[in-house]
Amino acid sequence: MKTLSVEQTPDKIGETVELFGWIDSKRDHKKIVFIDLRDRTGTVQVVGGEDFKELSTEDVIWIKGLVKKRPEKLINSKLKTGTIEIEAKEVKILNKTKPLPIPVNTDGLEIDEEVRLKYRYLDLRRPRMYKNLALRSKFIDLIRQYLFKQGFLEIETPILSETTPEGARDFIVPSRLQPGKFYALPQSPQQYKQLLMIAGVEKYFQIARCFRDEDPRADRAYGEFTQLDLEMSFVEREDVMNLIESMVIDVYEKLKIPIQKKPFPVFTYQEAIKKFDADKFDLRTEEEKKKNIQAFAWVVDFPFFEKTDTGGWTFTHNPFSAPLPKFMNDLLNKKNVEKILTSQYDLVCNGYEVGGGSIRNHTPKGLKAVFEIMGLKEEEINLKFGHMIEALGYGAPPHGGIAPGLDRLLTCITGEPSLREVIAYPMTSGGRTSVMKAPSTVKEEKLKELGIKIK
Ligand code: ASP
Repeated sequence: MKTLSVEQTPDKIGETVELFGWIDSKRDHKKIVFIDLRDRTGTVQVVGGEDFKELSTEDVIWIKGLVKKRPEKLINSKLKTGTIEIEAKEVKILNKTKPLPIPVNTDGLEIDEEVRLKYRYLDLRRPRMYKNLALRSKFIDLIRQYLFKQGFLEIETPILSETTPEGARDFIVPSRLQPGKFYALPQSPQQYKQLLMIAGVEKYFQIARCFRDEDPRADRAYGEFTQLDLEMSFVEREDVMNLIESMVIDVYEKLKIPIQKKPFPVFTYQEAIKKFDADKFDLRTEEEKKKNIQAFAWVVDFPFFEKTDTGGWTFTHNPFSAPLPKFMNDLLNKKNVEKILTSQYDLVCNGYEVGGGSIRNHTPKGLKAVFEIMGLKEEEINLKFGHMIEALGYGAPPHGGIAPGLDRLLTCITGEPSLREVIAYPMTSGGRTSVMKAPSTVKEEKLKELGIKIK
């Protein structure tokens, strides 16, 4: 097993060490050959002789060698290991590489993205990409630590499920056991998390994968994304906002990422539209943008409903939301619909909506009224949401939640040009998976089993 990483070598001066890694570069000076050996922690210079001749960049090797202090004038202060070099005693090629289809010693942004994603396992060898993956892992670790300290339970919810509306198209999966029927992949765990509140869990979170079949857009990850999904019982709007704000501040402080204003400024939807002509906006100065400062803000008091093309009503954010308390009577009586404000709160950062949530309708009649205003017939409501309306009738506690998007937050933190730079295996903009060739065709007999015919 590998026990020593490259970044630890400066502590081993005078010792013989064993290292594993890839050849980042090679300089052949006839009698002596220099290589830079790379692992996930960095690179270190290794000096060898004849036996280094057969090595090529990106071969994966093992070496045994003596760690030596470099003479003063050869110290490379730009490198973590720049004070030492390793005099190789033995070298073994563990696997010789073919020439790589893409360079991995650049930042990669100059390469066609389709090609990068086809060879994602090579693309991820770049130190920049490894750094992003490591940051993502740390970020999630700090979020978990914070929420566990606050008494939250982490609970998984199903992926094969019923449709849950978040305003996008569903991905559907055919059922073999019940031909002609389909599962939908969750657009979010919204309904399951609310049901956990009815179950008495009180504080739930999940690093949740959500699936939305939206038209590809440059600033979105197509298909699936990850959010911190969270729900709490016996809370009001400000409680959820305060919890998330404190969590963000705690996590960002630990990662040493500067936040522009604490507490986060709060704008009503009306104020935001008047001031920025949008409900997401960038509060940073040009100087702050250069320093990569994160500018958070909340937006509240959104209209609950908006007109549809056909003159009816639809929800603006989330059909499971409660209105602000003073509009509850209007909702129940389906009056002054255009004036009803929702309890929705959106979190904005650096010009993006990075999360949103609300206090929910915890009575059957409240939720039913939302669907009635949207023009759904009794039968349709019962068919699609009967389970929720029934469940709310069994002593559902008042509850609310939120779901910050992790891909987007990490894109803001890293200043990367796209969400795809902080996701290990994102889809291409055309909706194809990295490396593997999904979506792909399926054998005739498999389709038969599912009772499906392709037209
Ligand atoms: N379910 C919502 C979403 O995924 C977030 C929430 O209200 O908790 O956008």
